[in-house]
Amino acid sequence: MAETKEKEVSNVKEKNLPEIIGTSNKVLEVDLTARTYTVYQVTDEERKMYLGGKGLGLKLIYDRMPAKIDPFSSENIIAFMPGVLMGTGAPCSGRFSAVTKSPLTGIMDHASCGGPFGMSLKTAGWDGLLVKGKSETPVYLVITSTGVEFKDASHLWGKDAFETQDLLGKNKNAGAAVIGQAGENKVLFANIVSGKRFLGRGGMGAVMGSKNLKAIYAVGGAYKIVAKDKEKFDKVKKLATKRINANSVTSDMLRRFGTDNLVTYTNVAGIMPVRNFASGSSDNAYKLSGEYISENFNTKHHTCKPCTILCGKTGTFNGKQLSVPEYETVGVMGSNLEIFDPVVIAEWNDLCGRFGMDTISMGGTLAWVMEAGEKGLIKTDLKFGSTEGVAQAIEDTACGRGFGQEMGKGSRALSKKYGGEDFAIQVKGMEMAAYDPRGSYGVGLNYAVANRGACHLSSTVMAQENFVHVLDPYSTIGKHVWVKFFEDFYCAMNSLHTCTFTSFAYILENPLTKFSGLFYLKIVMGYLYPVATKIADISIYNKFWSTITGMKMSRSEFLKAGERIHILERYMNNREGITVKDDTLPGRLLKEGRKNDPKGRVVPLEKMLKNYYRIRSYDENGKPTAGIMKKLSIDVR
Ligand code: SF4
Repeated sequence: MAETKEKEVSNVKEKNLPEIIGTSNKVLEVDLTARTYTVYQVTDEERKMYLGGKGLGLKLIYDRMPAKIDPFSSENIIAFMPGVLMGTGAPCSGRFSAVTKSPLTGIMDHASCGGPFGMSLKTAGWDGLLVKGKSETPVYLVITSTGVEFKDASHLWGKDAFETQDLLGKNKNAGAAVIGQAGENKVLFANIVSGKRFLGRGGMGAVMGSKNLKAIYAVGGAYKIVAKDKEKFDKVKKLATKRINANSVTSDMLRRFGTDNLVTYTNVAGIMPVRNFASGSSDNAYKLSGEYISENFNTKHHTCKPCTILCGKTGTFNGKQLSVPEYETVGVMGSNLEIFDPVVIAEWNDLCGRFGMDTISMGGTLAWVMEAGEKGLIKTDLKFGSTEGVAQAIEDTACGRGFGQEMGKGSRALSKKYGGEDFAIQVKGMEMAAYDPRGSYGVGLNYAVANRGACHLSSTVMAQENFVHVLDPYSTIGKHVWVKFFEDFYCAMNSLHTCTFTSFAYILENPLTKFSGLFYLKIVMGYLYPVATKIADISIYNKFWSTITGMKMSRSEFLKAGERIHILERYMNNREGITVKDDTLPGRLLKEGRKNDPKGRVVPLEKMLKNYYRIRSYDENGKPTAGIMKKLSIDVR
């Protein structure tokens, strides 16, 4: 009966569920080698210092995992961490985080998504799941409110991520986190799939594959999650929802056109990657825009749950109902390869989803291969502007066939072997997202210093520089302050956990900001940035945290927790060998201008970096000083 679906596991009665007030603080610790599990009780101090989600995941790993281990060894731990918002019904609170050591970068990795697994884990009564060890044979876990079962996964091995979830069965209270063939074959940028959402970056799927762990199936619905102070929580929720529905970005642009609404902005700003970041705009880019896709491909909402903004979409492409590729995907697998056909990109996106591979790293690697082929460094039939052979290359990468096996190691490894490091568009081994920092200097600093590599989500200064136009994208003034502010803020937000897009609404709809006018905002944010970072209204986040947990948290404590999470991650990366030499950008972005920029501007990184190190309290080697470690109460190990 190995193929029995997991439907029957849940027999939870919907009504009169026992309540979890805020958080259960129970974290499951699974050892795949021994096939055992224990339960760890998170302390109030850990909760307050590291919040939940990404932050708490990092801290629990820091306490358990030595530095310098092989990411594919049994010692590597992968943590799945919902946050305190999950299950409460707060807007956009269906997201959860995973944390592990990345095989792509060799440093700490985190990712988040809004697939159903997080909600199932949390409503099964668990505030986290840590998995270590290695099974000798393919295994999957079934998690219920009573514990963990280890099950034979030989019938699932070799199946793609969507088939695997179908075989596990549908149950309205259950959610799975699974890998496709790419994870099984340890492609260094394999992802983890939950529903049709992805823990995308850094090769977490390969870590699961290295443990012979095909899937984790959580059966939730056993508990109701309620805020400690329900009345105050409801007030915060009402305000949050009102702001989301009032803000034009969250209630209109993202809701109608998804993240592809960004195409118009990035293309006009000259920061949409074209031809492996040789240029920053194209006359054909409109075909990848959210407006064009929604008009031509019958798009519908398909989102994380719950969500109030509703950016995720499906559409009808060539008669098939497929996910609409996100902005990052149309950027790196579209314009960056000089492909402007949404149908083809949607099909490649679907292929990557099924195999379980990160589209950003796949696109960046394909672009490097095309350029290396043009320059005669390698032999390949893949060419910019041609779709020929791309689907096959994606499949070969996922399945580790032929040259695909080398592509599965990413652009850094390829360029080290064959040359062409200047045009391997990656930082710390992670391929860059679809914003060219030569037209957005704050993004340049952000990519160079982001803890997990070229991450566009650690500090989204591109929004202030190029979408809401309150910062001059070609100025270095104040960028170190804004990058640090958003890093701390996003670390805290990703530990709550909620969607980054809520920040447009929660901050910009504050009456003081909303009615200030663009001119005033430009002055305050561009020149009075030390003041602006102190008054930006992020109070909804810390109020949510306080009303749910019952533990008071001020704005400054919330940001301090974010800073602590950032610094802990940096320190863990220092232990893996990260220094100042790694806080840089690919040669192309420091030496060559974009073809669309007559001024040939490049990222003036050095000055911004120096200022950033100073306010971050990093020493000249890029290590947090003893003073900042002490101030944030992080143990030095
Ligand atoms: S806005 Fe988009 S990314 Fe954010 S929670 Fe909703 S569907 Fe997910």
